[in-house]
Amino acid sequence: MLQPICAALALLTLTTPLLHAQQDESEEIPTEERTEPPRRHVDPEIRLALDWLRRHQRPDGLWAPIEEPACGDATCNLGDTERSVLELSALATSAILSDRIRDEPLFRRTLERASRALLRELEAVPTPRDRGDRAGHFFALLALLDLAEITNRESLRVELEPLLAAVDQQHVERLNANELYAWITLRWVREMVRPQDRRPWERDEIHAAEALLAASPEDLDLLALVALTRIFAGETPRSSARLEELAESIGDERCPLLEREAPRTLDATLLRGFVAFQLGGHAFPPWKQARQMPLRASQTREGCARGAWIFGPSGGDTSPQVLESTVLATMILQVYYCYC
Ligand SMILES: [Zn+2]
Repeated sequence: MLQPICAALALLTLTTPLLHAQQDESEEIPTEERTEPPRRHVDPEIRLALDWLRRHQRPDGLWAPIEEPACGDATCNLGDTERSVLELSALATSAILSDRIRDEPLFRRTLERASRALLRELEAVPTPRDRGDRAGHFFALLALLDLAEITNRESLRVELEPLLAAVDQQHVERLNANELYAWITLRWVREMVRPQDRRPWERDEIHAAEALLAASPEDLDLLALVALTRIFAGETPRSSARLEELAESIGDERCPLLEREAPRTLDATLLRGFVAFQLGGHAFPPWKQARQMPLRASQTREGCARGAWIFGPSGGDTSPQVLESTVLATMILQVYYCYC
């Protein structure tokens, strides 16, 4: 199931679905999309978004709303967020790492500051159970693992050793949905880049995801989490009757289950897109059309917010969460985006 290393590294931007055999791109992508200019190597919206992130990094290397905006514009507003500074900073770092833009000098500096800051945060509280924000902890570790591989930095790999050892004590049944999502993604990428850390995926993660779904059986986001957990655990629709059942209902061409109701948040949009992509087949093109295209149109083009998305996580008109929505919208555009 392992993909080439470059495809493994970015958080949610894999270029090849795990269940590769199911996907036939030339058949699935509607004709009108093929006439678009190829976006695979220079994507103007992603580039603008990553540049906004670079301009809004705090001097300490993290990303968070502050009184004195890093961009120097007094009217700048990064909005509110319930997500932690650590989680947002980790996701912003991963978004930059997922693009070739990471090799440009300004962005290398951004990544250098970000990695020092993430490492400092993790070393201050090395055990996730001692930290309120476990999703942020896992995503930060993931961003640093990515960075160590992409830059081939042995010193960073060494610094990560004790932090990786500390997460091995994690009990997955106590994680909420977002934490479990962060955990399975970390575990999956970690085992890909560090074969020495591989161990059998016991049933814990799958049980934890199924238990979350059993408590809210109508929740499509939890359904997507179950599917993704099973895929990361190495199941295929052929090897697992449960995944086959999920894949069939999720992937129906006329009405992909995951798009039956629009996701309420950008992170749910991202999770569903990732599952649709990994399952291949019918579910992905409708997701792309319905969720990526509108984002390209709603990106801000003016002022210090040029490149950002100014809306709440639901896309509604409650208090804008500029930083959070920009990080997540960027990652949504990066699903199935070739950065190699
Ligand atoms: Zn600004």
